[in-house]
Order: sequence, then structure tokens, then C-alpha cells
Amino acid sequence: MKKWTVMLLSLLTIVSLAACGSNNPASTSAGTGTSAGSSDQTSTQETSKLQVSVTFDAMKEFVEAVGQDKVEISTIIPDGTEPHDFEPKAQDLVGLSTAKVFVYNGLGMEAWVDKAVNAANNAELVTVEASKGADAIENTDPGEIEEHGQYDPHLWISLKGAELEAKNIKDGLIQADPANKDFYQTNCDDFVAQLESLYNEYNKKFQSVDKKSFVTGHAAFGYLCRDFGLKQNSVEDVFAEGEPTAQQLSELVEYCRANNVAIIFAEEMASPDVSQTLAKEVGAEVETIYTIESAEDGMTYLERMQSNLAKIYESLTK
Ligand SMILES: [Zn+2]
Repeated sequence: MKKWTVMLLSLLTIVSLAACGSNNPASTSAGTGTSAGSSDQTSTQETSKLQVSVTFDAMKEFVEAVGQDKVEISTIIPDGTEPHDFEPKAQDLVGLSTAKVFVYNGLGMEAWVDKAVNAANNAELVTVEASKGADAIENTDPGEIEEHGQYDPHLWISLKGAELEAKNIKDGLIQADPANKDFYQTNCDDFVAQLESLYNEYNKKFQSVDKKSFVTGHAAFGYLCRDFGLKQNSVEDVFAEGEPTAQQLSELVEYCRANNVAIIFAEEMASPDVSQTLAKEVGAEVETIYTIESAEDGMTYLERMQSNLAKIYESLTK
């Protein structure tokens, strides 16, 4: 029993060290403003930060935008791991037993969350289903429904979806840490304003072009397309499972030729080589597109969405 406790403690230490190490890229002088804070430093670590556990990168981005220097985030699904296929092991979930807030996307993205929350047995844990209240896109393919459930989970790759998710997260942070209510509210309002302004900029641009469809790595852009009246075609299906058959690939080739597709988008985790092959076949360029399912190129959520939108727009004007 004792041995087990020691093991658990050392695991916890490793997890929290890892979380500290991967946290801030360059958050300049954010924390220096007020020195009136409490002086209850019982340990050398900053234990006063709200401990937030999230499932994957997009959730981390939203929590960071709202919680900034008042939160310490640990991400359960490791970067570079395909989140659709992820099954957590016991050690991936150690942080949940001590976290104050747990944020997941929902819509079937993380089928394991209920079990994980039960196993954590953490009575204080505030659980946030970030997509709660969304107008979800239904899957139509019977195979997809059977395997992954009813809905397309990719709500976060939509500026409108991000607004909803950030607001749900803000409510969860306030519930867990009511003393900083105004701080979370202001940050959330700022983030939403930035999302709105990016949306308005691109809504105008997309309305002005006749071409409306683009080709991606996996079908992750359904909500983004709905926001702007666009259409996606993909090398892989919604759940990034497996490469296309020869028949599907030849259909894609035909589609690209018929629609003068000049840019094929590739994702790091969804058969980038198939995207390359396809592009070569139809004489198109390959461009990177971000799904924000994992950390990508050290960029924030807004930077990645800005890049996605600029490239999609470019592809529609070629
Ligand atoms: Zn995906």
C-alpha cells in the first residue's frame, strides 16, 4: 500500500513538472502587475493557480485564453497523438484526481470521459463539456454513426463554435474560482471579440468569391464550412480513419480536375502523403492546414485559424 502511494506521488510530481515545463512560450511580463496577492507560500511551487485538466490542444487553447496566468493546464492527450483513436491509460488520468476543472469537447470526441471522471473520484471536480448547447452537425454515414456516434465533433475549428466553447469554459472557471470572476469574464469577452472580428473579415471575403469548395486531409471542417457557406472534400473521412481506396482517390482526382482545385490541404496526422500524391496527380500545390487537435508549429488558436482562413480563401481565388 505504501509503495503504491509513493509511486502515485512520484507520478504526480512528474506530471506537474511536465505541465510546468510545457506551459508558457513567451508570456512576457503578465504576472508582475499586482504584488498585493496572498503570501501563503507553503511550497516553492505556485500552488495558487487553478489546476485545469483538458483533453486535447484546442481545449488547452481556450482555457489559456480565458484563464491566462490564473490557471495551470495539463493536457491528457499527448501532442502528436491522433485524438480520435485515443484511449487513456491509468497514468494519463492521474491529474484528474487533483484537478479543480476538467474540460473536454464532447460530441463523441472523447468517448472515454465518463469513465475517466468516475475513476478520478474527485468530488470537487468541475466538469465542462465545452460544446454544450451547440447546434451539432449530424453524421449521415451509417458506418460512422455506428462507430463514432451521431455527431461531427469538430466544433472548435469554427470561430462561432469557439465562441460557445470559450463561454462554457469561462462559466466552469468561474464556478471553480469565483474570486476571479471578473478576470475570466473580461478575458472571455476579449477573446470573443477577436473571434468575431476574424469572422467578420472572412465572412465578407468568402461571400465575394464564386468558388466555394476546398480539399482537406480529413473531414474536420464541417462547422467552419457551415459558418461561411463553404464545402469540404477530404482525403480521409471525418474521423481520420484510413486512407482512401483506389476508387475514392480516383473520384477525388476527378473532382479536383472538374473543379480546378489548385491547392490541396494536408494535415500532419491525416495521410499527408496521400494529399501529396493527389496534388501531384492534378497539378495542385500542397498547403498545411491546422486542425488544432494537437499543438502545431507553436501557434495559438487564433494564429492557426487566421492561417487556415487565409489559405482557404487563397485556394478559392486561384
Ligand atoms: Zn478530427
